[in-house]
Amino acid sequence: MDTRPLIYDLSQPELAEQLRAWGQPSYRAAQIWDGLYKQLWARPEDFTNLSKDLRAKLGEHFSFSHLQPSITLHSTDKQTLKTLFKLPDGNAIETVLMRYDDRDGSQGRRTLCISTQAGCAMGCVFCATGQMGFRRNLTSGEILEQVLYFARQLKVEGERVTNIVLMGMGEPFHNYDASLAAIARLNDPDGFGLGNRHFTISTVGLIPAIKRYTTERHQMGLAISLHAADDELRASMLPVNNRYPIKDLIQACRDYVQTTGRRITFEWALINGVNDTPEQARKLAALLQGLNCHVNVIPLNPTRGYPGQRSTRERVAEFRSILEAAGISCTVRVRRGIDIQAGCGQLAESEGQQPIQISN
Ligand code: SAH
Ligand code: SF4
Repeated sequence: MDTRPLIYDLSQPELAEQLRAWGQPSYRAAQIWDGLYKQLWARPEDFTNLSKDLRAKLGEHFSFSHLQPSITLHSTDKQTLKTLFKLPDGNAIETVLMRYDDRDGSQGRRTLCISTQAGCAMGCVFCATGQMGFRRNLTSGEILEQVLYFARQLKVEGERVTNIVLMGMGEPFHNYDASLAAIARLNDPDGFGLGNRHFTISTVGLIPAIKRYTTERHQMGLAISLHAADDELRASMLPVNNRYPIKDLIQACRDYVQTTGRRITFEWALINGVNDTPEQARKLAALLQGLNCHVNVIPLNPTRGYPGQRSTRERVAEFRSILEAAGISCTVRVRRGIDIQAGCGQLAESEGQQPIQISN
């Protein structure tokens, strides 16, 4: 196994420190940073602005890739692309690219859905990643290498990543430091330069992390996976609710909105006959009254380990109309890439007995 540190795990000061230790002039760090994050160079050999010796040294000391693409699937409409990456320790993660082209065919958003952990410890019953259990945290470099990988591909087509959502495998707030470090590194105007507002973090509702995030006054979008409006139902779907019940969670969300002045998003996977009832919609409307928020409902992506089915079109429409009648804005999300198992963790999960240990 490759034990060299991943170069993307270093902050710019850390890289500068390493170069100083090698006796290099200080501008080298900026040159390398530019090469990695602006030019999107993927190998030490690409750094033709450095001496051969320094290139060799970089290659000896650092790994330039922890992500080995093992399977890539395109949706039939070619708008969604999903890659399963193998990590050096045999674990696997998934990243999804979604293209939203304008009607005239010009480039619209290019949204990447990235993973923050291999597996997930939260055990949400309807989620393929939750069904796998937790393998390990990704490092900040492994989180952001997913972005670099797709940014390099898009660059060839004259395009770029416009939005990043932390909604792939794993719970970003259970790997808080690495997730936030990855975003900070991608923000850097001297590097990748993608502004905070182009990121969305999705959390299952870890209250202490939401509080910390509020205090730190980040500018990324925040989405909360709610999925049920009373504790009994929510705990049956999301075990984390036993620890952080709805009342406390919504209070933390209210504090976030009040402190930051930002709107918050709630996610709701509609499961037929489970959480798509008029009663749940009314309870949800009551919970969110007076809160500057938006609700995204997504018909469930069925998974092997959970018997629930997606709600019918009629039930989706009724759920939404109850919310809107109560003055709560609500969007029904289109399921992207359903034909390539682009739901969270679904590709890794389908890889045989040992779900995310890929052997080839
Ligand atoms: N761990 C974070 C982010 C990753 S999951 C979180 O839970 O928020 C991203 C979103 O996909 C969450 O809202 C999650 O609840 C939802 N999700 C998981 N499995 C799903 C499924 N089978 N169908 C629809 N949405 C699902
Ligand atoms: Fe983890 Fe999110 Fe899946 Fe829940 S929905 S198991 S928190 S990845």
